[in-house]
Amino acid sequence: MDRHEKLSDHFTLGELIKSETAERKGINNTPPVNLVPKLRRLCTELLEPIRINYGKPLRPNSGYRSIELNKEIGGSSASQHCKAEAVDIEVPGVSNYDLAVWITNNLDFDQVILECYREGEPNSGWVHVSLKDEGEINRSMILTYSNRTYTNGLLA
Ligand SMILES: [Zn+2]
Repeated sequence: MDRHEKLSDHFTLGELIKSETAERKGINNTPPVNLVPKLRRLCTELLEPIRINYGKPLRPNSGYRSIELNKEIGGSSASQHCKAEAVDIEVPGVSNYDLAVWITNNLDFDQVILECYREGEPNSGWVHVSLKDEGEINRSMILTYSNRTYTNGLLA
């Protein structure tokens, strides 16, 4: 699998599957070939429109997590990251709350979760965004996750 393969104009396969934890622990985080088209959809339908809107590079995280890696970092066993249906996003210089608001107002999504954001600290946390597989129905769920609790809506 070629990590330099471009999935869209600005994003490579390597960027979508990179994991510092996997590297540190020697965990294989190479996705099955059949999930690569789903990673490409995360790029074209989520990452590219966000990049175009803010006009600056952004760093996606966990576009794919192998089951082993997901266990290692304590992710939910039902995590959409393991199905290449979710990506965690931050845009440098943009509050994660504002980013979550923009995504919910402008893109189609299955779930948007504002995770571990603390009011008054724009860089805290990140935004988890997912997409159902092609042909499945996106639920358009909007949640905030903080103190190990999910709450409906975006809470600053
Ligand atoms: Zn996530």
